[in-house]
Amino acid sequence: MKTISKLKKELDKWFSLYIRLRDSKNGLVQCITCGCVKNYKQGMQNGHFQSRSHLATRFDEQNCQPQCVGCNMFKQGEQYKFSIALDSKYGEGTAQELEYKARQITKFTRADYEEKITYYKSAVKNLKEEKGIE
Ligand SMILES: [Zn+2]
Repeated sequence: MKTISKLKKELDKWFSLYIRLRDSKNGLVQCITCGCVKNYKQGMQNGHFQSRSHLATRFDEQNCQPQCVGCNMFKQGEQYKFSIALDSKYGEGTAQELEYKARQITKFTRADYEEKITYYKSAVKNLKEEKGIE
């Protein structure tokens, strides 16, 4: 049986692919904070507005956006720019709601992880088919 930490890693992988594919066009996707465009598999990551350490928002589809390695790793996520981009994408107050949500205590069971893995695995497959990319 897989450990919870293994399931979490597996979900991270599928969820990250989902986030990068969701907004991609012809395999290209734009960084939420600097606007550069790269292939979803090269130099693009799943950027978290509220840090990955908060489980409540770790797999939140608004909290997570495609972000280039430069912004995500070397500029510590550009949190201020990230908040502005989120409000313009989803509406005023989104960033603040996510900050609040991040602080809520959440616990995922093995079944929760397994369910989400199944969901995002098939979502990734569907997106690839829809967009005609590998
Ligand atoms: Zn960037």
